[in-house]
Amino acid sequence: MAEKGIEKVLAEVLKSGGDILAEVCPSCRVPLVKVRGEVYCPSCGRRVLLVKTDYEAVAQRRRLILEELEDVLLAQLDKATKMLREELDEEQLRSIIYILDALKRAEDVKRSVVGIEQE
Ligand SMILES: [Zn+2]
Repeated sequence: MAEKGIEKVLAEVLKSGGDILAEVCPSCRVPLVKVRGEVYCPSCGRRVLLVKTDYEAVAQRRRLILEELEDVLLAQLDKATKMLREELDEEQLRSIIYILDALKRAEDVKRSVVGIEQE
């Protein structure tokens, strides 16, 4: 992205109540922006995690993995629910139960990760 393009994006970020941070994108070297709690690069659009310690970095990474897992599980749950609507199949119902169980476990793990971070 051209330098002028980035400045335009940065101006829009400020207008929308976001912040321009002192930290730069590891790949583009342009200032990162923070909008509604999310930090990202205005150039490549990559979400960036700002962390103070290695420990925090690990915790953040875990949380991202778990969020991704939840997204995948919810998509599968949606698919299974639609199939169940077509036909009440015991196998399908069982997979829904497994998905719900996995979601609950993912939520539990996420909560414990967040809990550790708050210490
Ligand atoms: Zn970037």
